[in-house]
Amino acid sequence: MRMVVANWKMNHLRRDAEAFCASLLGAYKPVDGVVAAIAPPFPLIPVVSRLVAGSAVRVYAQNAHAEAKGAYTGEVSMAMAMDAGCTGVLLGHSERRQYNGETEATLLPKVKAAAAQGLLPMLCVGETLAQRDAGATLDVLRGQLSILAQAPEGPIAVAYEPVWAIGTGRVATVEQIAEVHAFIRKELLALMGPRGGDVPILYGGSVTPDNFQDILKVPHVAGGLVGGASLDPAKFLKLLDIAA
Ligand code: PEP
Repeated sequence: MRMVVANWKMNHLRRDAEAFCASLLGAYKPVDGVVAAIAPPFPLIPVVSRLVAGSAVRVYAQNAHAEAKGAYTGEVSMAMAMDAGCTGVLLGHSERRQYNGETEATLLPKVKAAAAQGLLPMLCVGETLAQRDAGATLDVLRGQLSILAQAPEGPIAVAYEPVWAIGTGRVATVEQIAEVHAFIRKELLALMGPRGGDVPILYGGSVTPDNFQDILKVPHVAGGLVGGASLDPAKFLKLLDIAA
């Protein structure tokens, strides 16, 4: 299975989402084994869900809270994300680790809550440039992945996104991606047993239609988590084509 996930981050208003979905659905031909998903900002989740209803396009949340409900002003629960039309949720994106203090301690309950709700948790991991330069990449990833030793039952996905490659135009080399994806697979097998072999591992970081083909050839790369290029429906369609 391959996946192409559009992370819109904090971009787009309703009219942009409507235009995007109209262009996408006008040309999108679903292919067996290729998952297309859009992760819009919260207010656009019901909008996109309604527009893609009846198509194969899935909708993910960019985050959600671990608690089921209660006094958590400004938060959105897994059940609310699902109720709005999501089938998956990004967890631990590096921007949330950086700006919202997400850590392994906050992410494990989120992974469990997502799975309990029936949402696909997509755990994002990745090292900063300073960590890579210090030779700490694999140690950082080992720490971020460690929560999967307590992975709940059910499907789970991982996205490797080197922080220095996100939104910078500086894509990791295929050698760097190959090294890390092989390492992640090894860790997943050690942490989760044989089911770790089935976890899709996506790459993210300045993915474009120009580099995606080469990235997809790397062993253990099951698709792309795409920020900037996913805002343009023509580029998203191209990426889906390449994954097919
Ligand atoms: C992302 O935010 O998940 C991402 C990979 O962004 P970009 O494609 O813009 O680097």
